[in-house]
Amino acid sequence: MNDTNEPNTEIENAEAVADALAEWWHASARDLPWRFGRTTTWGVLVSEVMSQQTQMSRVVPYWNDWMERWPDAVALADAAKADVITAWGRLGYPRRALRLQECARVVASDYDNKLPRTYDELLALPGIGDYTASAVMSFAFGERIAVVDTNIRRVLSRVFLGEESLGGAARPAERALAKQMLPQDDASKCRRFDRPSVVWNQSVMELGATVCTAKAPLCEACPVSGHCVFLHNGRPGLGERRTRPRQRFQGTDRQVRGLVLNALRNLPEGATALNRKSLERLWDDHIQLDRCIASLDEDGLIEILPNADVRLPV
Ligand code: SF4
Repeated sequence: MNDTNEPNTEIENAEAVADALAEWWHASARDLPWRFGRTTTWGVLVSEVMSQQTQMSRVVPYWNDWMERWPDAVALADAAKADVITAWGRLGYPRRALRLQECARVVASDYDNKLPRTYDELLALPGIGDYTASAVMSFAFGERIAVVDTNIRRVLSRVFLGEESLGGAARPAERALAKQMLPQDDASKCRRFDRPSVVWNQSVMELGATVCTAKAPLCEACPVSGHCVFLHNGRPGLGERRTRPRQRFQGTDRQVRGLVLNALRNLPEGATALNRKSLERLWDDHIQLDRCIASLDEDGLIEILPNADVRLPV
């Protein structure tokens, strides 16, 4: 693929691929609780924020509890920060929880507790980037818009161009390909989650998550194997990426930050803070520990009290 705004290939089998994927989607899509019109637009947004760096299957129990407790933006806007951080549990990257609450406050105060319906307004909300704004426009509102994430880029690049998408930031040509492949919507289909463009976005993404995975695609079980240029070409450069490999977790600041937050989430009944001794028991390298405590404080995820105890924010 070149780096211009246009993919350099004429796509001939687009309709056949879309049909095969739609059939596969209706037969095999994972039955996640925010799919198939079973939740609110706010519920879709919450699922997208939770799934950004966490596998969808792991998100389900957290999403269920969260939505039961805070079913809309107003409810989340009013929640105590400590409860929000605790409920985020082990989803990882807990700053997302606070950004989601900031987003809820804006939706509650500026939009009368309803998600705005335009891409630009969604993009302007705290913590919402291009991917999430597009995903909400498509999955929640049924609008015809190209959704571009790593899974979609990988599948489109393999099926239609016969090459690996190398990761990193999405290139203009990859965005153009996603736009080019988006099916037209049939106005007679009124259920928003059944529209061809929505089914397309969801099914391509689902294929990338469950079948056409980065390292070990299950080509023998793939509904579009008969149309896939990458498979036809012998899967050249399978698994090649231009991004660095995922960072190990053991020993990182992420691990230490997680230990501190987890200890705070699981304080015994009646306790509200961790004292210095308890903190030092969590991690032997106290320089690293202090760095992590300072960064959690900077991120607004904990508060440091005058006596050096730490607690979840109130
Ligand atoms: S045939 Fe293989 S490489 Fe092609 S889309 Fe299917 S799983 Fe991916």
